Amino acid sequence: MSEASLTELPWYLAKQPAQIATREITVIGAGIAGCTTAVALQRRGFKVTVVDRHPQAGSEASGNSQGIVYPKLSPRDDLLPQVNLAAIQFCKDYYQPFWDRGLGAQCGILVVPESPKKAADFALISQRFADRPEIVQSVDHQQLCELAGIPLNAVTALYFPQLGWLPPALVCQQLLQINNIPLLQADIHRLERDQTTHSWELLDARGQSILKTESVVIASAFDCKNFAQSEHLPLRKIRGQITQLPSTVESRPLKTVICGEGYFTPAVDGLHSCGATYNKDIFSTEVREQDHLTNIAQISATDPGLATALGEPAIDTLRGRANFRCTTPDYLPIVGALPNVPEMLEDYAILRKDAKTVLPTRGSYLPNLYVNCGMGSRGLSYAPLTAEILATQIAEEASPVNLELLKAMHPARFLIRDLKRKRI
Ligand SMILES: Cc1cc2nc3c(=O)[nH]c(=O)nc-3n(C[C@H](O)[C@H](O)[C@H](O)COP(=O)(O)OP(=O)(O)OC[C@H]3O[C@@H](n4cnc5c(N)ncnc54)[C@H](O)[C@@H]3O)c2cc1C
Repeated sequence: MSEASLTELPWYLAKQPAQIATREITVIGAGIAGCTTAVALQRRGFKVTVVDRHPQAGSEASGNSQGIVYPKLSPRDDLLPQVNLAAIQFCKDYYQPFWDRGLGAQCGILVVPESPKKAADFALISQRFADRPEIVQSVDHQQLCELAGIPLNAVTALYFPQLGWLPPALVCQQLLQINNIPLLQADIHRLERDQTTHSWELLDARGQSILKTESVVIASAFDCKNFAQSEHLPLRKIRGQITQLPSTVESRPLKTVICGEGYFTPAVDGLHSCGATYNKDIFSTEVREQDHLTNIAQISATDPGLATALGEPAIDTLRGRANFRCTTPDYLPIVGALPNVPEMLEDYAILRKDAKTVLPTRGSYLPNLYVNCGMGSRGLSYAPLTAEILATQIAEEASPVNLELLKAMHPARFLIRDLKRKRI
C-alpha cells in the first residue's frame, strides 16, 4: 500500500513489513475465496498449498450447481457500489476462459425492479452508465422479453450483457486442477506462531501438527471466527437455500438470468436454479420444503411471467441445496493483513477521546497472516478481485483498486470504527 498522507491516521499501513523468504504460503479454505487467492499467489511465484476439511474444493457455500455473477450498483457513488463495479469489471475478464470453455454461460442478466423506488434508482443507474452500455443498460418491455426469450410482465429492467452464471464448485475445482495447486484435506483448529522459525503451524483438533508454513491466508468464511487471530471479525452466518425447478415447454427457451426478489437461471439438464432464502437463525443444511415455497413465491414476485412459465411444480419432489453465507456489517468483503488486536487497541486508544486525531502511528499486524472472507451473497463477483488485491499486497505490487477501496475492505476497519464510536 502506498504511503499515507499526513492528513489521516495510517492505521492500514503495517509497522513492520512482511518477512517473505521461502515464499511458502498456505490457504485455509477451498471455496471461491480460497481458490482464487491460491491462483493469484501462485501466479506470482508463491508455493501454495490449499487446506480444506473436505476432500474436494467447493464443498460448502461455493458448492451450488449454478451461481450468479451479479453486481449491486447504485445511483450514488458510495463505497459499496464502487467495490461492486470494480469487482464485476475484474471478474468478467477472469471468468471469460471458463465461459469460453462452456462452463456456465455469459448469458447476460436482467434485473427487474422490485418496487417503484427501485425502478427510479434503475433509471438513474442507466443514466450514470449511459456511455458504458457494455456494463449496464436500461431495457423496455419488448427488449427484455426478446432478451429473455420468454414472455415476462416487467415493463423495464437493467440488463448486464457481460455477466451470467457459473457452477461455483466446478470453478473452484478447475482453479486448483488447472494450476496444479495441491489440496490437503485437514480440519484446522488452531494456528500457532513459531517464533524460532518465524513460521505458522497449523494444528488439528487433537493438537497434531498438519503443516508449518511461512505465511497463511485464512479463507474459511464464517469459520474464520474459530481462529484466535481472526475471531474478532464481525462476521455473521446466514443460511440460504436454493431450489431446482423442472423446466417446462414455456420456461425452457429462457436465455438470460432473471433477478429481482430472487434469481432464476436458464435451465441446465432440465432444471432451473432459483433462490435464495435468507435465514439468520437456522444453522442446519437440511433442505426444507417451506424454503422451496419461499423461493417459488420470490420468483412469482420477481415476475409473474416466470411463474406462469413454470406451471405448478410438485413441491414434495423438488430438490435443492442449503448452505451459509458469511456476511459483514457493511456488506463488503474483508481482505488484507490481520491486525494484532491488543496492540492496535493500545496504539489507537486516543481515538476513543478524539476520533479525528492524526498521528504518524502505523498499524500493528500479525506477521504473514492474512484473511479473505465476508463474501456475503456475492462471492462469485467479489472473490477474483479480493484475491488479486491480497496477492498484490503480499507480493508488494501495485493494487488493482485505489486506497479508498482497500481501506473499505480492510480487516482492521472495524477496530478503527469501533474505537472512534467508543464501542470498544
Ligand atoms: C443458497 C446460496 C445461494 C448463493 N447464491 C450465490 C450466487 O448466485 N452468486 C454469488 O456470487 N454468491 C452466491 N452465494 C454466496 C456464495 O456462495 C458465497 O459468497 C461464496 O461461496 C463464499 O465463498 P468462500 O470461499 O468465502 O466460502 P466457502 O465456499 O464456504 O469456503 C470456505 C471453505 O473453508 C473450509 N473451511 C472452513 N473452516 C475450515 C477449517 N477450520 N479447516 C479447513 N477448512 C475449513 C470449508 O470447508 C469451505 O470449503 C450464495 C450462497 C448461498 C448459501
